[in-house]
Amino acid sequence: MLRIGLTGGIGSGKSTVAKVCEILGIPAYYADTAAKKLMNTDPELRNAIIHEFGRDAYTGTELNRKKIASIVFSDPVKLEKLNQLIHPATIRDAEEWMKKQISPYAIKEAALLFESGANAGLDKIIGVSAPHQLRIKRVMDRDGVTQEEVISRMKRQWDEERKMNHCDEVIINNEHEFIIPQVLDLHQQFLAIKK
Ligand code: ATP
Repeated sequence: MLRIGLTGGIGSGKSTVAKVCEILGIPAYYADTAAKKLMNTDPELRNAIIHEFGRDAYTGTELNRKKIASIVFSDPVKLEKLNQLIHPATIRDAEEWMKKQISPYAIKEAALLFESGANAGLDKIIGVSAPHQLRIKRVMDRDGVTQEEVISRMKRQWDEERKMNHCDEVIINNEHEFIIPQVLDLHQQFLAIKK
């Protein structure tokens, strides 16, 4: 089975593209959602987070998100440390998930695909590209956050050009192109590859 990565900067439309793929019957793994779940359910990851951030990193079995957020948002070293714990756990989980899929191909959607090394083991990578200002506007509308908050999240990611240069295929998600025909083209292309 073909393993396809799907990436792009914040607000580029990765999840939207992944949902179109799901409508076509292609399973999608959402790395951010999985990571949030794993922080509560993966005992090894939980212990590592407690070791790094202290017992009150958890309230019972639930991650104390407020506490962790308050630490990492003001301390880039701690944020990096947290990412170094979460990424390997998510990569392992995604590999397990991939092994269980029986479709012609499966999608792994991740914002920090290259930044985290999660691109390893994938056969092809699709990038989703959208103009800077549009991405900011879409995230502000979606999350109810300020422009500054979106920009600060963007700064923790590779810039658009570098990211897209590393992708095998690029879907343009601006206000002029439709994403569905672009996804259908790639769908046909991936179905034609026997693996
Ligand atoms: P993040 O990295 O923050 O998870 P993402 O790349 O997964 O973002 P989406 O959540 O898919 O991006 O899209 C961001 C927002 O923009 C969503 O509210 C989505 O509905 C909207 N959006 C995405 N593509 C389009 C489009 N072509 N037309 C209109 N709205 C769109």
